[in-house]
Amino acid sequence: MKLSVIGCGYLGAVHAAAMASIGHEVIGIDVDAAKVESLSRGDAPFFEPGLGDLLRAGVDSGRLRFTTDMAGAAGSAVHFVAVGTPQRRDGAGADLTFVDAAVNALLPHLGPDDLVVGKSTVPVGTAQRLQPLVEERGASIAWNPEFLREGFAVKDTLEPDRLVYGVGGQTSDRDVATLDEVYAPAMATGTPRIVTDYATAELVKVSANAFLATKISFINAMAEIAEATGADVTMLADAIGHDARIGRRFLNAGVGFGGGCLPKDIRAFAARAEEIGRGESVQFLKQVDEINLRRRQRVVDLIVDSFDGSPNGRRVVVLGLAFKPDSDDTRDSPALDVAVRLHGLGADVVCTDPEAIGNAQRQHPQLSYVADVEESLQGAEAVVLVTEWSVYRHLDPARVGELVARRVMVDGRNCLDPVAWRDEGWTYFGLGRP
Ligand code: NAD
Repeated sequence: MKLSVIGCGYLGAVHAAAMASIGHEVIGIDVDAAKVESLSRGDAPFFEPGLGDLLRAGVDSGRLRFTTDMAGAAGSAVHFVAVGTPQRRDGAGADLTFVDAAVNALLPHLGPDDLVVGKSTVPVGTAQRLQPLVEERGASIAWNPEFLREGFAVKDTLEPDRLVYGVGGQTSDRDVATLDEVYAPAMATGTPRIVTDYATAELVKVSANAFLATKISFINAMAEIAEATGADVTMLADAIGHDARIGRRFLNAGVGFGGGCLPKDIRAFAARAEEIGRGESVQFLKQVDEINLRRRQRVVDLIVDSFDGSPNGRRVVVLGLAFKPDSDDTRDSPALDVAVRLHGLGADVVCTDPEAIGNAQRQHPQLSYVADVEESLQGAEAVVLVTEWSVYRHLDPARVGELVARRVMVDGRNCLDPVAWRDEGWTYFGLGRP
């Protein structure tokens, strides 16, 4: 099939490359000329495991092209809209400027019977609002939320755990058949597929993220209680996680969630609920957000306390900048936030990360960055692990002890073995762990 993918960021670039890899002819369209140039060469403009190979194979096959020209969408049967929906600058709601601009720019190039497929995460009501614009051109619109996880984006796109189609209008049956054809390999393996209305499809995405954020903040709230009582939140999570109704996944206490999705999605959901007169239904999301942000301050406080309240001029090494391992995404990253707060307190902050230094440096040029982890650790008076990259989880406490000036480790992800670190003479702090 001939497909266009409008917006080629973390979601769109992976989607475009994945669709080409299963045999479709794909044109990716983005307003960012540098990104398009990189993608056209088969070079991933950001770090995502496996994306480079998929892109190169697609570009070499001739089935995957990129352009900044929206006219390139003409002739495609299906147009995926994958542009960003960040938090508004002036409030908590989602900024729909990019979605509206992309759809409006696409309209003149739509053919009759084309299908516009929204993949961006949007406030409930967006598809219904765009429907008349698209139908005026004889085309139709569906909403097909995306559940990929950065770090696993290629696999998640090629082997999704479910497909959700929100459809409406006169041609719903045909639109469902079209989407089934797009996703034929996933359909053939029996991937669960839910066909529903626009509002449900839009809400599936934000409610899934609201649930995941709540689960993380729940265990982080338990960490706060554990800190006041001497209990161990990791053991607590193991124990409650054995209950299949609860489950152990996403129950790791730590510095909390971040990234380009969970924080802005729960805020946008709460803002949208206010607009439709149901603010109180998701009022708890404000607390979820607050618990999450408190954990960042807790990590900072542990460092400050280790210097008896005076971090000024003391060398603190921050391990990790990306919001999660196996990504270079620093949007609303707890790690970067911790680094910035410590820098603001006068600490001599040195940051390192296997992939995210470039993005972090663009956002916060005032911080010091060192690419090599051992070099970064030289002379550290405190170390804080904030992104659980495998290379940090497997650090040898004896070896790191030789590099640093003072053996203080704040494990913001509870991913190190406290016994092993203490045995090497380290003062170890976890979150919610005695
Ligand atoms: P992103 O910022 O990485 O990418 C968005 C891209 O859209 C950018 O490359 C930007 O240049 C481009 N763009 C903006 N306006 C445009 C226009 N008018 N025409 C063409 N291109 C335009 O964002 P992302 O992380 O890929 O997220 C995109 C959407 O997908 C968001 O709604 C997000 O919530 C959702 N989502 C993201 C993920 C994820 O893990 N990143 C997962 C699921 C859903």
